[in-house]
Amino acid sequence: MKFGASYFGNRILRHVREDMKKMIDDGCNFVVHTMSEHDITYHSGTMIDIVKASREAGLEVFLDPWGVGRVFGGEAFSTFVKAYPDCRQRLNFPEGEIKIYKACLNTKTFRDHMVAWIELAAKTGAEGVFWDEPHLFFGEFAPLFGGKKMDIWGCTCGTCKDIFKEKYGYEMPLDFTDDVKSFRQMTIVSFLEFLSTKASRKGLKNSVCLFPTTDPRYGIFEWEKVAMIKNMYTFGSDPYWYAYKQDVVEFVKRVSEEVLMLCKKYNKEAQIWIQGYRVPAKREEEIKTAIDVAYNAGIRNIATWSFEGTDCMTYVRSERPEVVWQCVRTAYLKYKNR
Ligand SMILES: [Zn+2]
Repeated sequence: MKFGASYFGNRILRHVREDMKKMIDDGCNFVVHTMSEHDITYHSGTMIDIVKASREAGLEVFLDPWGVGRVFGGEAFSTFVKAYPDCRQRLNFPEGEIKIYKACLNTKTFRDHMVAWIELAAKTGAEGVFWDEPHLFFGEFAPLFGGKKMDIWGCTCGTCKDIFKEKYGYEMPLDFTDDVKSFRQMTIVSFLEFLSTKASRKGLKNSVCLFPTTDPRYGIFEWEKVAMIKNMYTFGSDPYWYAYKQDVVEFVKRVSEEVLMLCKKYNKEAQIWIQGYRVPAKREEEIKTAIDVAYNAGIRNIATWSFEGTDCMTYVRSERPEVVWQCVRTAYLKYKNR
C-alpha cells in the first residue's frame, strides 16, 4: 500500500527533516515535492538537499513542475511566459493576436525548458516525476454589446496552426470543433509522451494526474490516450469532491473505477488524489470516506493534496487544517499495513 502527500511552502532543511519524519509517523511512504520555476532558479541546491533528507527519512520522492509555464497545476508564478512572449498560448479571438500567460506545449523553447527541469529533477536523486493536470487554456467570453457567447481556447499560435494543417489537411478553425478538440488532446498527449520519454531516459519514474472529467474543454476527453503512454508508470486522477461540488462516495468511486480499469488494461499503477485543501469545517470526516471508497475500489496508491491540510497557504488552506490532517492520518494508519 502506498500513501503520500504533496509538500510545499518551506525550503528550510531543518523543518523539512522534521516534517518528513512526521509524514512517516502519519502513515506516508512517499512525498510529492513541488519544484517551481522559482525553485529551479533559486533553490537548485536546496532541492537536492530536500530530496536527500526525504529519502533519508524513508520516503519515496516525486517532483512536481508546480505551475511551470502555468500549464500544470500549482500556485506558482511563471517567469517563462514573461520572458518568452512568442511561446505563449494564442487564443482564438478573430480580433487579433491575443495571448494568454500560459506556455504553448508545442513550442520547442518551452519543451527545452522542461528538459532542463527534468535534468535537475534527475540530479536531485528523486525516484520520479509527477505530471500534474497538464492543460491548455479554455474560457468563455460574452461581448457586452450582444452576440453569442464564445468558447475561447488555446492554442492557435503559428506552430500549432502548422501542426493542425499537417494533420487535418485544412486551416485550423476558430470554433471549438471536434477536430479542434482532438487536436488539443493530441497536443497534451504528445507533450506527455515527450516529457515521459526524457524523464525515463534519466532513470525517473513517470506519474500523471488528469482532471477528474472527460469534458473536452479540460483537454483530455479520452483518458485511454494518456494511460497507454509507454513510459508512464503511474496513472491517476484527482476527484476533489469539495471543489467540484460532488458527492464524495459517488465521485471518488466512479473516478477510481475508471482509473483502475485503464491501469489494468495498460499495466500501470493506479493513483487517486484526496482533497486535503479548502476543506470546509465540519465536513472533514468525508476524507476518511473518500479513502475508504478509493481503497475498496481497489486503489493501492493514495495521495493527499496537501500535507497538514494545506495550512501553509492562505489561498488553498482548509478551514480546520489540523482536523483535516488528523482524518488523513487516521485513514492512512488504518490501511497502512494491510
Ligand atoms: Zn501553440
